[in-house]
Amino acid sequence: MATGTLTIDLDAICANWRAMDRASAASVQTAAVVKADAYGLGAARVAKALAQAGARRFFVAAAEEGAMLRQILGPGPEINVLSGHMAGDTDMIGDLDLVPMLNSLDQITRHLEALPGKPFGIQLDTGMNRLGMEPDDWAAVAGIVLDARPQLLMSHLACADMPEADLNLQQLETFRALTDGLGIPRSLSATGGILLGPDYHFDLTRPGIGMYGGLPYAQARPAVTLSLPVIQTRIVEAGEYVGYAMGWQASAPTHVATVAAGYADGLFRAFGGKAMLWAGDQAVPVLGRISMDLITADISALAEVPAALDILGPHQGVDDLAAVAGTIGYEVLTNLGPRYARRYVTGGKA
Ligand SMILES: *Cc1c(COP(=O)(O)O)cnc(C)c1O
Repeated sequence: MATGTLTIDLDAICANWRAMDRASAASVQTAAVVKADAYGLGAARVAKALAQAGARRFFVAAAEEGAMLRQILGPGPEINVLSGHMAGDTDMIGDLDLVPMLNSLDQITRHLEALPGKPFGIQLDTGMNRLGMEPDDWAAVAGIVLDARPQLLMSHLACADMPEADLNLQQLETFRALTDGLGIPRSLSATGGILLGPDYHFDLTRPGIGMYGGLPYAQARPAVTLSLPVIQTRIVEAGEYVGYAMGWQASAPTHVATVAAGYADGLFRAFGGKAMLWAGDQAVPVLGRISMDLITADISALAEVPAALDILGPHQGVDDLAAVAGTIGYEVLTNLGPRYARRYVTGGKA
């Protein structure tokens, strides 16, 4: 088999969700964010496992994702759509019981006219300036909107992974000023906000990355391993080159392994010459450039040619690998490609 094997530990994802659930008071509901196909790990399996673990409320980015999730989960669990109610979404939202988080006056008008009496939430902008109603717009329509009984008032923190940032407290105060005393359930925090403490928890939290084993939830159980089969090995003599553009030159005879995965599988070109692969506990350096489908590594230090080398595993997690390319774990996860054989394990078994 010339594709990598991506192993996704559903127990770890559920354990991470439960741990974040326990991090807030019992009165605080913990939702699960499964947008972008559960951060690339496969919403079909991940959301089902989370529902079995007790998650009753899910967030997706787009109504189309919500429609797919409804098919996966069936009736019952609540599905919230962060992008709100866009033109063309009405049938999906109405027929599949999706709950849009309305972000603008346009969206509020669209929803209340097209689906009167159907549930909705409101997203307020408290300083990130990305999605959600500006405080002035909210003040202008809050009366009418509150009469229609939104089921959630939410906002999103811009730097929850930087506890020292003043903007966190500013956003908290703005959110309070906009929503105190209204008697509507509130939500401000994703993974990072949960870690900022109870002031940030309100009635509902919305963790994503922490479930999938990424920072800023440093205690998370890793949820993925990625193992790449060795297709061929060779001895490269001193003076010879490896890979495109003579990306690496041997100064001594070197045992080189070629593994099956490349930038088309979400292993960024920026890993070239920098990342490590692992044979069990032993690191072997990537040589030269990352190709579309192939990566070369120096296995001279290994006693035997391994059947596969790991690029994600106990010694190199998604954030370690992200750091090599100057990015974040979220981007590594959501780029994991469609060619891998995906193995879902529970209870230590596939
Ligand atoms: C993606 C997202 C989340 C989840 O964020 P994590 O940092 O992955 O926990 C929560 N809320 C909103 C609005 C989001 O866009």
